[in-house]
Amino acid sequence: MTHRLPFLVASLAVLSACTPTTAQRAAPVDIPCQSCAEWNAPQQPFRIFGNSYWVGTHGLGSILVTSPQGHVLIDGALPESAPAILASIRALGFRPEDVKLILNSHAHFDHAGGIAELQRATGAEVAASPWSARVMERGASDASDPQYGVLRGYPAVAQVRPFADGDTLRVGPLALVAHFTGGHTPGGTTWSWRSCDGARCLDLVYADSQTPVSADGFLFTRNTAYPSAIADFERGFAALDALRCDVLLTPHPDASQLWQRLAARDAGQPDALVNPNACRAYAAAARERLQQRVAKEQAR
Ligand SMILES: [Zn+2]
Repeated sequence: MTHRLPFLVASLAVLSACTPTTAQRAAPVDIPCQSCAEWNAPQQPFRIFGNSYWVGTHGLGSILVTSPQGHVLIDGALPESAPAILASIRALGFRPEDVKLILNSHAHFDHAGGIAELQRATGAEVAASPWSARVMERGASDASDPQYGVLRGYPAVAQVRPFADGDTLRVGPLALVAHFTGGHTPGGTTWSWRSCDGARCLDLVYADSQTPVSADGFLFTRNTAYPSAIADFERGFAALDALRCDVLLTPHPDASQLWQRLAARDAGQPDALVNPNACRAYAAAARERLQQRVAKEQAR
């Protein structure tokens, strides 16, 4: 039984982040985070495939994509994760100063919280979807966020450049494509790019969170603050279905079973991270969760 405990704890941690407690609602600006210490647990950086590396913590994603002309970093995890992310970049033999562009999945404290410090340490430009850019420049979400009122604030990011759905963001030879996959937040963004290892090239996807989680009182099916929430989810699921997706990565690694897959790779299955059906399966599971949520709201 004991060997199952870490997975149980991990699932509960994700759940508690997504399930506001009464105590959290009482203090919307500086909210205690029961899962943060666990999310911030140390993690050895490692090569995912080709020029793509995991530099996040054990509980939160941060992805480094490298080139001789500069690197791209996706997500900054928590404010307190930034020193570990910088140390991981160095441990892999890269220089933080060579990070030229920082991107984001969605503008919550557990994925954008470390970006202000990472921006200072690297001098990189930061780019985000228009909604996320506004939120990151404030370090606080707004009423159109389903979790508004139960989210921690975080250090504001200076000068975030907005981009449009489908834009390709480039650093030297690197080209990462932005796919708007909202619903969890109005500005959620999934990233796709290609990495090569010698002659073999794979399509990597860092797919944003797809959970219909909200503060008490917010209804995805009828609200005036974010009326396109359901439509945004549906559009995002369709985008995920259509993506070429050999390796799926997610801001919460447990959401795509990263550690189990990595253990299998370390145990001698070289392609354990590769599954061309992974994005469709991720979208299918999210569709089902959304349907359950909608049914629950309609029963109210
Ligand atoms: Zn979130």
